[in-house]
Amino acid sequence: MHYHSTRGTEFINFDTAIQSGLAPDGGLYVPEKFPKLDVKALAQASYPVMTEALLKPFFQNSAIESQLSDICHQAFNFPTPITALNAHTPLLELFHGPTLAFKDYGARFLAECMNRLAKQKTTLMIATSGDTGSAVASAFHGKENIQVVILYPQGKISDRQAHQINCWGDNILALAVNGTFDDCQALVKAAFHDPNWQAYTHLSTANSINIGRLLPQMSYYALGSLYYWHHYGANARFVVPSGNLGNVTAAYWAREIGCPIAEIVVATNANSVVPDYLRTGEYQPRASVATLANAMDVGHPSNFERLQYLFKNYDTFKKNMSAFAVSDAEITATIKDIYQRYNQVICPHTATACFVRNQLSDEPWIVVSTAHASKFEQVIEPMLNITLPIPDALNRLLTKPQHFIPLEADEKIIFNTVKRYFDAL
Ligand SMILES: *Cc1c(COP(=O)(O)O)cnc(C)c1O
Repeated sequence: MHYHSTRGTEFINFDTAIQSGLAPDGGLYVPEKFPKLDVKALAQASYPVMTEALLKPFFQNSAIESQLSDICHQAFNFPTPITALNAHTPLLELFHGPTLAFKDYGARFLAECMNRLAKQKTTLMIATSGDTGSAVASAFHGKENIQVVILYPQGKISDRQAHQINCWGDNILALAVNGTFDDCQALVKAAFHDPNWQAYTHLSTANSINIGRLLPQMSYYALGSLYYWHHYGANARFVVPSGNLGNVTAAYWAREIGCPIAEIVVATNANSVVPDYLRTGEYQPRASVATLANAMDVGHPSNFERLQYLFKNYDTFKKNMSAFAVSDAEITATIKDIYQRYNQVICPHTATACFVRNQLSDEPWIVVSTAHASKFEQVIEPMLNITLPIPDALNRLLTKPQHFIPLEADEKIIFNTVKRYFDAL
Protein backbone atom coordinates (compact mmCIF):
# COMPACT_ATOMS: atom_id res chain seq x y z
CA MET A 1 0.00 0.00 0.00
CA HIS A 2 1.21 3.46 -0.88
CA TYR A 3 0.13 6.84 0.38
CA HIS A 4 0.23 10.24 -1.22
CA SER A 5 -0.67 13.82 -0.41
CA THR A 6 -4.12 15.20 -1.26
CA ARG A 7 -2.15 17.76 -3.29
CA GLY A 8 0.39 15.52 -5.01
CA THR A 9 1.16 12.15 -6.54
CA GLU A 10 4.48 11.26 -4.93
CA PHE A 11 4.07 7.83 -3.32
CA ILE A 12 5.41 6.99 0.13
CA ASN A 13 4.80 4.10 2.52
CA PHE A 14 2.81 4.03 5.75
CA ASP A 15 5.88 4.58 7.91
CA THR A 16 6.84 7.85 6.25
CA ALA A 17 3.22 9.03 6.27
CA ILE A 18 2.77 8.62 9.99
CA GLN A 19 6.22 9.89 10.88
CA SER A 20 5.80 13.12 8.96
CA GLY A 21 2.15 13.92 9.77
CA LEU A 22 1.59 16.72 7.28
CA ALA A 23 2.88 16.25 3.71
CA PRO A 24 5.69 18.60 2.62
CA ASP A 25 3.38 20.23 0.06
CA GLY A 26 0.95 21.18 2.83
CA GLY A 27 -1.59 18.49 1.92
CA LEU A 28 -2.78 15.52 3.96
CA TYR A 29 -1.81 11.92 3.36
CA VAL A 30 -4.42 9.52 1.96
CA PRO A 31 -4.17 5.84 0.94
CA GLU A 32 -3.71 5.27 -2.82
CA LYS A 33 -6.72 2.93 -2.77
CA PHE A 34 -9.32 1.34 -0.50
CA PRO A 35 -9.27 -2.44 -0.90
CA LYS A 36 -12.71 -4.05 -0.59
CA LEU A 37 -12.83 -6.43 2.36
CA ASP A 38 -15.31 -9.04 3.48
CA VAL A 39 -16.24 -7.12 6.63
CA LYS A 40 -19.26 -9.30 7.47
CA ALA A 41 -16.89 -12.25 7.91
CA LEU A 42 -15.48 -10.39 10.96
CA ALA A 43 -18.75 -10.32 12.90
CA GLN A 44 -17.46 -12.69 15.58
CA ALA A 45 -13.94 -11.25 15.86
CA SER A 46 -12.72 -9.43 18.96
CA TYR A 47 -12.06 -5.71 18.57
CA PRO A 48 -8.25 -6.01 18.21
CA VAL A 49 -8.56 -8.96 15.81
CA MET A 50 -11.13 -7.13 13.68
CA THR A 51 -8.92 -4.03 13.59
CA GLU A 52 -5.93 -6.09 12.55
CA ALA A 53 -7.89 -7.63 9.66
CA LEU A 54 -9.16 -4.25 8.47
CA LEU A 55 -5.75 -2.57 8.66
CA LYS A 56 -3.66 -5.37 7.19
CA PRO A 57 -3.78 -4.07 3.61
CA PHE A 58 -2.86 -0.58 4.81
CA PHE A 59 0.30 -1.93 6.48
CA GLN A 60 1.72 -3.54 3.35
CA ASN A 61 5.36 -2.42 2.90
CA SER A 62 5.58 -1.14 6.46
CA ALA A 63 8.61 -2.07 8.57
CA ILE A 64 6.17 -2.95 11.37
CA GLU A 65 3.76 -5.01 9.23
CA SER A 66 4.52 -8.15 11.23
CA GLN A 67 3.77 -6.33 14.50
CA LEU A 68 0.26 -5.24 13.55
CA SER A 69 -1.40 -7.84 15.75
CA ASP A 70 0.60 -6.75 18.82
CA ILE A 71 -0.08 -3.12 18.03
CA CYS A 72 -3.84 -3.69 17.90
CA HIS A 73 -3.90 -5.76 21.08
CA GLN A 74 -1.84 -3.20 23.02
CA ALA A 75 -3.78 -0.20 21.72
CA PHE A 76 -7.32 -1.55 22.03
CA ASN A 77 -7.33 -3.10 25.48
CA PHE A 78 -10.60 -1.44 26.52
CA PRO A 79 -14.24 -2.15 25.57
CA THR A 80 -16.34 -0.49 22.83
CA PRO A 81 -19.93 -1.13 23.99
CA ILE A 82 -23.00 -0.38 21.93
CA THR A 83 -25.92 0.55 24.15
CA ALA A 84 -29.31 1.91 23.17
CA LEU A 85 -30.96 5.19 23.99
CA ASN A 86 -34.18 3.69 22.62
CA ALA A 87 -35.21 0.92 20.24
CA HIS A 88 -34.15 2.84 17.15
CA THR A 89 -31.19 4.81 18.53
CA PRO A 90 -28.14 2.71 19.39
CA LEU A 91 -25.23 4.57 21.01
CA LEU A 92 -21.73 3.67 19.88
CA GLU A 93 -19.82 4.41 23.09
CA LEU A 94 -16.28 5.50 22.25
CA PHE A 95 -15.42 6.79 25.71
CA HIS A 96 -14.17 3.74 27.60
CA GLY A 97 -10.47 4.31 26.94
CA PRO A 98 -8.10 5.70 29.59
CA THR A 99 -9.00 9.37 28.98
CA LEU A 100 -12.70 8.77 28.30
CA ALA A 101 -12.96 10.19 24.78
CA PHE A 102 -12.72 8.68 21.30
CA LYS A 103 -9.33 10.33 20.79
CA ASP A 104 -7.85 7.44 22.80
CA TYR A 105 -8.36 5.16 19.76
CA GLY A 106 -6.20 7.18 17.40
CA ALA A 107 -3.66 8.30 20.00
CA ARG A 108 -3.02 4.80 21.38
CA PHE A 109 -2.63 3.26 17.94
CA LEU A 110 -0.31 6.06 16.84
CA ALA A 111 1.80 5.68 19.99
CA GLU A 112 2.30 1.96 19.39
CA CYS A 113 3.30 2.57 15.76
CA MET A 114 5.55 5.59 16.35
CA ASN A 115 7.41 4.00 19.24
CA ARG A 116 8.15 0.94 17.11
CA LEU A 117 9.16 3.00 14.08
CA ALA A 118 11.42 5.51 15.86
CA LYS A 119 15.03 4.95 14.76
CA GLN A 120 16.22 7.79 16.97
CA LYS A 121 14.82 9.59 19.99
CA THR A 122 11.78 11.49 18.72
CA THR A 123 10.16 14.52 20.32
CA LEU A 124 6.47 15.13 19.81
CA MET A 125 5.26 18.68 20.28
CA ILE A 126 1.59 19.31 20.79
CA ALA A 127 -0.44 22.41 21.48
CA THR A 128 -3.76 21.55 23.07
CA SER A 129 -6.85 23.28 24.32
CA GLY A 130 -8.04 20.16 26.12
CA ASP A 131 -8.89 16.62 25.01
CA THR A 132 -6.07 15.83 22.58
CA GLY A 133 -3.38 16.60 25.14
CA SER A 134 -4.60 14.09 27.69
CA ALA A 135 -5.19 11.33 25.11
CA VAL A 136 -1.69 11.79 23.66
CA ALA A 137 -0.03 12.04 27.10
CA SER A 138 -1.74 8.88 28.28
CA ALA A 139 -0.98 6.98 25.06
CA PHE A 140 2.73 7.89 24.91
CA HIS A 141 3.55 7.71 28.63
CA GLY A 142 6.38 5.24 29.15
CA LYS A 143 7.11 4.81 25.43
CA GLU A 144 10.91 4.60 25.53
CA ASN A 145 11.71 6.08 22.10
CA ILE A 146 9.44 9.08 22.30
CA GLN A 147 9.45 12.19 24.46
CA VAL A 148 6.38 14.40 24.46
CA VAL A 149 6.06 18.14 25.07
CA ILE A 150 2.53 19.39 25.64
CA LEU A 151 1.82 23.11 25.63
CA TYR A 152 -1.48 24.35 26.96
CA PRO A 153 -2.73 27.84 27.86
CA GLN A 154 -2.54 28.12 31.64
CA GLY A 155 -5.88 28.90 33.26
CA LYS A 156 -7.75 28.56 29.97
CA ILE A 157 -8.52 24.85 30.19
CA SER A 158 -10.50 23.28 33.01
CA ASP A 159 -8.71 22.11 36.19
CA ARG A 160 -9.65 18.53 35.41
CA GLN A 161 -8.32 18.81 31.86
CA ALA A 162 -5.04 20.29 33.15
CA HIS A 163 -4.72 17.56 35.76
CA GLN A 164 -5.10 14.87 33.07
CA ILE A 165 -2.16 16.42 31.20
CA ASN A 166 -0.04 17.14 34.28
CA CYS A 167 -0.39 13.77 35.99
CA TRP A 168 2.16 11.79 33.91
CA GLY A 169 5.72 13.07 34.34
CA ASP A 170 8.64 10.94 33.04
CA ASN A 171 8.70 11.23 29.23
CA ILE A 172 5.70 13.58 29.23
CA LEU A 173 6.58 17.24 29.83
CA ALA A 174 3.59 19.50 30.51
CA LEU A 175 4.18 23.20 29.90
CA ALA A 176 1.57 25.64 31.21
CA VAL A 177 2.06 28.61 28.93
CA ASN A 178 1.20 32.15 30.00
CA GLY A 179 -0.81 32.88 26.85
CA THR A 180 -3.61 31.64 24.61
CA PHE A 181 -4.10 28.43 22.66
CA ASP A 182 -3.01 30.31 19.53
CA ASP A 183 0.25 31.28 21.30
CA CYS A 184 0.85 27.61 22.08
CA GLN A 185 0.23 26.65 18.48
CA ALA A 186 2.54 29.39 17.21
CA LEU A 187 5.29 28.12 19.55
CA VAL A 188 4.96 24.59 18.16
CA LYS A 189 5.09 25.89 14.59
CA ALA A 190 8.14 28.01 15.39
CA ALA A 191 9.99 25.01 16.84
CA PHE A 192 9.57 23.12 13.55
CA HIS A 193 11.37 25.96 11.75
CA ASP A 194 14.10 26.49 14.34
CA PRO A 195 17.60 25.08 13.61
CA ASN A 196 18.25 24.76 17.37
CA TRP A 197 15.44 22.23 17.60
CA GLN A 198 16.53 20.40 14.45
CA ALA A 199 20.01 20.00 15.90
CA TYR A 200 18.68 18.81 19.25
CA THR A 201 16.09 16.22 18.26
CA HIS A 202 13.88 14.65 15.61
CA LEU A 203 10.64 16.64 15.91
CA SER A 204 7.23 15.27 15.06
CA THR A 205 3.61 15.81 15.95
CA ALA A 206 0.55 13.75 16.76
CA ASN A 207 -2.39 15.96 15.88
CA SER A 208 -5.56 14.75 14.21
CA ILE A 209 -4.25 15.21 10.67
CA ASN A 210 -1.93 12.24 11.17
CA ILE A 211 -3.19 9.33 9.10
CA GLY A 212 -2.06 6.97 11.87
CA ARG A 213 -4.92 8.32 13.96
CA LEU A 214 -7.57 8.08 11.25
CA LEU A 215 -7.07 4.55 9.92
CA PRO A 216 -7.75 2.69 13.19
CA GLN A 217 -10.92 4.74 13.67
CA MET A 218 -12.49 2.82 10.77
CA SER A 219 -12.73 -0.15 13.07
CA TYR A 220 -15.50 1.11 15.36
CA TYR A 221 -17.57 1.93 12.29
CA ALA A 222 -17.12 -1.67 11.23
CA LEU A 223 -18.29 -2.75 14.68
CA GLY A 224 -21.27 -0.39 14.59
CA SER A 225 -22.31 -1.37 11.08
CA LEU A 226 -22.12 -5.10 11.91
CA TYR A 227 -24.27 -4.49 15.00
CA TYR A 228 -26.77 -2.62 12.84
CA TRP A 229 -26.80 -5.36 10.22
CA HIS A 230 -27.34 -7.99 12.87
CA HIS A 231 -30.17 -6.12 14.67
CA TYR A 232 -31.95 -4.40 11.80
CA GLY A 233 -30.92 -6.38 8.71
CA ALA A 234 -29.92 -3.27 6.77
CA ASN A 235 -26.94 -1.07 6.04
CA ALA A 236 -26.10 1.22 8.93
CA ARG A 237 -26.86 4.91 9.45
CA PHE A 238 -24.56 7.01 11.63
CA VAL A 239 -24.71 10.51 13.10
CA VAL A 240 -21.21 11.78 13.94
CA PRO A 241 -20.43 14.78 16.18
CA SER A 242 -17.73 16.61 14.23
CA GLY A 243 -15.17 19.38 14.47
CA ASN A 244 -11.98 18.72 12.55
CA LEU A 245 -13.83 15.98 10.58
CA GLY A 246 -11.29 13.27 11.40
CA ASN A 247 -13.84 10.98 12.97
CA VAL A 248 -16.31 11.30 10.10
CA THR A 249 -13.56 10.85 7.49
CA ALA A 250 -12.85 7.48 9.11
CA ALA A 251 -16.57 6.66 8.72
CA TYR A 252 -16.46 7.30 4.96
CA TRP A 253 -13.23 5.34 4.65
CA ALA A 254 -14.88 2.45 6.53
CA ARG A 255 -17.65 2.47 3.94
CA GLU A 256 -15.03 2.49 1.16
CA ILE A 257 -13.44 -0.73 2.45
CA GLY A 258 -16.80 -2.48 2.49
CA CYS A 259 -18.48 -1.84 5.84
CA PRO A 260 -22.25 -2.09 5.38
CA ILE A 261 -23.02 1.62 5.78
CA ALA A 262 -25.91 3.39 4.07
CA GLU A 263 -25.77 6.95 5.36
CA ILE A 264 -23.49 9.21 7.36
CA VAL A 265 -24.69 12.51 8.81
CA VAL A 266 -22.50 15.18 10.38
CA ALA A 267 -23.55 17.07 13.51
CA THR A 268 -21.61 20.26 14.26
CA ASN A 269 -22.02 22.83 16.99
CA ALA A 270 -22.53 26.52 16.09
CA ASN A 271 -19.33 26.33 14.02
CA SER A 272 -21.33 25.66 10.88
CA VAL A 273 -18.77 25.80 8.09
CA VAL A 274 -19.67 22.30 6.79
CA PRO A 275 -23.49 22.66 6.85
CA ASP A 276 -23.04 26.06 5.20
CA TYR A 277 -20.87 24.53 2.48
CA LEU A 278 -23.41 21.81 1.71
CA ARG A 279 -26.20 24.40 1.53
CA THR A 280 -24.41 27.00 -0.57
CA GLY A 281 -21.58 25.20 -2.38
CA GLU A 282 -19.12 27.76 -1.02
CA TYR A 283 -16.49 26.62 1.46
CA GLN A 284 -15.73 29.50 3.77
CA PRO A 285 -13.44 28.69 6.69
CA ARG A 286 -13.59 31.23 9.48
CA ALA A 287 -12.51 31.88 13.08
CA SER A 288 -14.08 29.44 15.51
CA VAL A 289 -16.68 30.46 18.10
CA ALA A 290 -16.73 29.04 21.64
CA THR A 291 -19.57 26.59 22.39
CA LEU A 292 -20.60 24.08 25.05
CA ALA A 293 -19.19 21.29 22.86
CA ASN A 294 -15.73 22.83 22.93
CA ALA A 295 -13.77 19.92 21.42
CA MET A 296 -15.70 20.69 18.22
CA ASP A 297 -14.95 24.43 18.17
CA VAL A 298 -13.31 24.40 14.76
CA GLY A 299 -13.83 27.02 12.07
CA HIS A 300 -11.38 25.57 9.55
CA PRO A 301 -11.61 21.78 9.75
CA SER A 302 -8.34 20.27 8.56
CA ASN A 303 -9.82 17.01 7.30
CA PHE A 304 -12.16 18.81 4.93
CA GLU A 305 -9.37 18.44 2.39
CA ARG A 306 -9.44 14.65 2.72
CA LEU A 307 -13.21 14.56 2.18
CA GLN A 308 -12.91 16.86 -0.79
CA TYR A 309 -10.30 14.53 -2.20
CA LEU A 310 -12.62 11.55 -1.66
CA PHE A 311 -15.72 13.15 -3.18
CA LYS A 312 -13.96 15.11 -5.96
CA ASN A 313 -16.73 17.67 -6.44
CA TYR A 314 -19.59 19.47 -4.73
CA ASP A 315 -22.34 17.31 -6.24
CA THR A 316 -20.82 14.08 -4.98
CA PHE A 317 -20.09 15.71 -1.64
CA LYS A 318 -23.74 16.72 -1.34
CA LYS A 319 -24.96 13.30 -2.40
CA ASN A 320 -22.89 11.58 0.28
CA MET A 321 -23.12 13.88 3.25
CA SER A 322 -25.70 15.89 5.11
CA ALA A 323 -24.73 18.15 7.97
CA PHE A 324 -26.61 20.08 10.62
CA ALA A 325 -25.41 22.80 12.98
CA VAL A 326 -26.66 22.63 16.57
CA SER A 327 -26.79 25.69 18.83
CA ASP A 328 -25.83 25.80 22.51
CA ALA A 329 -29.53 26.21 23.39
CA GLU A 330 -30.31 23.03 21.44
CA ILE A 331 -27.41 21.19 23.10
CA THR A 332 -28.73 22.21 26.51
CA ALA A 333 -32.31 21.24 25.70
CA THR A 334 -31.15 17.86 24.38
CA ILE A 335 -29.03 17.03 27.45
CA LYS A 336 -31.97 17.93 29.71
CA ASP A 337 -34.49 16.02 27.61
CA ILE A 338 -32.40 12.84 27.52
CA TYR A 339 -31.76 13.06 31.24
CA GLN A 340 -35.47 13.42 31.98
CA ARG A 341 -36.64 10.87 29.49
CA TYR A 342 -34.01 8.14 29.85
CA ASN A 343 -32.23 9.07 33.09
CA GLN A 344 -29.02 9.11 31.07
CA VAL A 345 -26.37 11.83 31.05
CA ILE A 346 -24.67 12.54 27.72
CA CYS A 347 -21.77 14.86 26.96
CA PRO A 348 -22.31 18.11 25.00
CA HIS A 349 -20.66 16.67 21.87
CA THR A 350 -22.85 13.58 21.86
CA ALA A 351 -25.81 15.91 22.41
CA THR A 352 -25.29 17.55 19.01
CA ALA A 353 -25.68 14.13 17.36
CA CYS A 354 -28.72 13.23 19.50
CA PHE A 355 -30.36 16.50 18.50
CA VAL A 356 -29.69 15.82 14.82
CA ARG A 357 -30.89 12.24 15.16
CA ASN A 358 -34.27 13.59 16.25
CA GLN A 359 -34.53 15.57 13.01
CA LEU A 360 -33.99 12.41 10.94
CA SER A 361 -36.16 9.50 9.84
CA ASP A 362 -37.66 6.87 12.16
CA GLU A 363 -35.26 4.31 10.76
CA PRO A 364 -32.60 3.33 13.28
CA TRP A 365 -29.65 5.73 13.50
CA ILE A 366 -26.49 5.00 15.45
CA VAL A 367 -25.42 8.02 17.49
CA VAL A 368 -21.66 8.15 17.85
CA SER A 369 -20.95 9.03 21.47
CA THR A 370 -17.54 10.70 21.57
CA ALA A 371 -16.89 11.44 25.25
CA HIS A 372 -17.97 10.58 28.77
CA ALA A 373 -20.16 13.23 30.38
CA SER A 374 -17.98 13.40 33.50
CA LYS A 375 -15.24 15.08 31.44
CA PHE A 376 -17.53 18.10 31.11
CA GLU A 377 -18.81 18.40 34.64
CA GLN A 378 -18.54 22.20 34.51
CA VAL A 379 -21.18 22.24 31.77
CA ILE A 380 -23.36 19.34 32.87
CA GLU A 381 -23.57 19.69 36.66
CA PRO A 382 -25.12 23.17 36.82
CA MET A 383 -27.33 22.36 33.82
CA LEU A 384 -28.91 19.28 35.42
CA ASN A 385 -28.35 20.36 39.00
CA ILE A 386 -26.63 17.10 39.84
CA THR A 387 -23.18 15.91 40.91
CA LEU A 388 -21.70 13.46 38.43
CA PRO A 389 -19.91 10.45 39.85
CA ILE A 390 -16.28 10.32 38.70
CA PRO A 391 -15.51 7.11 36.79
CA ASP A 392 -12.64 5.02 38.18
CA ALA A 393 -10.44 5.63 35.12
CA LEU A 394 -10.70 9.38 35.55
CA ASN A 395 -10.32 9.19 39.31
CA ARG A 396 -7.05 7.32 38.90
CA LEU A 397 -5.66 10.24 36.91
CA LEU A 398 -7.10 12.97 39.13
CA THR A 399 -5.56 11.52 42.28
CA LYS A 400 -2.04 11.38 40.80
CA PRO A 401 0.31 14.26 41.69
CA GLN A 402 0.76 16.97 39.07
CA HIS A 403 4.06 17.75 37.32
CA PHE A 404 4.13 20.80 35.08
CA ILE A 405 6.27 23.84 34.40
CA PRO A 406 4.60 27.25 34.14
CA LEU A 407 6.42 29.53 31.70
CA GLU A 408 6.21 32.53 29.41
CA ALA A 409 5.22 32.18 25.75
CA ASP A 410 8.82 32.57 24.60
CA GLU A 411 10.47 30.26 22.12
CA LYS A 412 13.94 30.42 23.69
CA ILE A 413 12.66 29.76 27.20
CA ILE A 414 10.65 26.79 25.94
CA PHE A 415 13.63 25.30 24.10
CA ASN A 416 15.94 25.63 27.13
CA THR A 417 13.31 24.25 29.49
CA VAL A 418 12.60 21.23 27.31
CA LYS A 419 16.29 20.46 26.83
CA ARG A 420 17.05 20.80 30.55
CA TYR A 421 14.13 18.58 31.50
CA PHE A 422 14.92 15.72 29.15
CA ASP A 423 18.70 15.92 29.65
CA ALA A 424 18.14 15.42 33.38
CA LEU A 425 15.80 12.45 32.87
C1 LIG B 1 -12.25 15.85 19.02
C2 LIG B 1 -13.64 15.60 19.45
C3 LIG B 1 -14.73 15.66 18.55
C4 LIG B 1 -14.54 16.06 17.11
O1 LIG B 1 -13.90 15.08 16.35
P1 LIG B 1 -13.25 15.44 14.93
O2 LIG B 1 -12.54 14.24 14.49
O3 LIG B 1 -12.32 16.60 15.22
O4 LIG B 1 -14.35 15.84 14.03
C5 LIG B 1 -16.00 15.36 19.01
N1 LIG B 1 -16.20 15.03 20.30
C6 LIG B 1 -15.20 14.97 21.20
C7 LIG B 1 -15.51 14.62 22.60
C8 LIG B 1 -13.89 15.24 20.81
O5 LIG B 1 -12.89 15.19 21.72
